[in-house]
Amino acid sequence: MPELPEVETIRRQLAPHLEGRRLERVEISDPRWTLPAAPATVAAALEGATVNGLARRGKYLIWELDGDRHLLVHLRMTGALLLDATGTLPHTRARIELSDGHVLTYVDPRRFGTALLLSSSAERAAYLDARLGPEPLTAEFTAAYLRRRAAGRSAPVKSFILDQRNIAGVGNIYADEALHRARVHPLRPAGRLTFAQWRALKQAIEEALVAGIDAKGASIDDFRHLDGARGSFQDSFLVHTRAGQPCPGCGQPVRKLVVGGRGTYVCERCQPRPRRR
Ligand SMILES: [Zn+2]
Repeated sequence: MPELPEVETIRRQLAPHLEGRRLERVEISDPRWTLPAAPATVAAALEGATVNGLARRGKYLIWELDGDRHLLVHLRMTGALLLDATGTLPHTRARIELSDGHVLTYVDPRRFGTALLLSSSAERAAYLDARLGPEPLTAEFTAAYLRRRAAGRSAPVKSFILDQRNIAGVGNIYADEALHRARVHPLRPAGRLTFAQWRALKQAIEEALVAGIDAKGASIDDFRHLDGARGSFQDSFLVHTRAGQPCPGCGQPVRKLVVGGRGTYVCERCQPRPRRR
């Protein structure tokens, strides 16, 4: 599933094609994409709109349109945006012709992706603030915030990291990679990390995300760039999806566990398992 680095990669690739352009013609063929709004209503509202900017918050790609309107696109499991793709694309859900002649296609085999049109900055802020905690790589994301937020919580720290209301944009890949970098076991209760561990984890989350952005995302599933190419961060994973392979730090085989229903990869020598109390 695309996480912060994958969505940021798409944003950087798409922004120069969208910013300042008009959406000339919009066809939405999957009613599920725009729920609860009808696809024809959203298509009619988008047609003729000019894109002023392309922003990102967590895993949301935000099309900033004229008239203070905002289209929040979430790729979920298998959504992808492709520019000038040739031939017939299976699983096409929407097709957008831009004023400069380029064509943007939204494909989504599993159809969990969403597009939500909001009609003011206030609506956008209310929608996102209700769902998303602080954005990593900004000043509001601090070790002190994490410790305060996690105080008293017995849920595993990995589940805490994956909850978008605590931290925006981190998913399964970057949670595993960050916990390994910080030498914290994913099953450690969130409320029992020391402040030094929160400091290490805050830094590790940012390092893992920046490494992912620098590699233009990870393609272990359907994630594709605007031109259909794959990201390369999967070639640099320290532990994620590397069960049985040696830990890059100590050589002990990486173990796969299940934490909160998610496949989780850990080196239990570098990331000691919490003792039972
Ligand atoms: Zn190790």
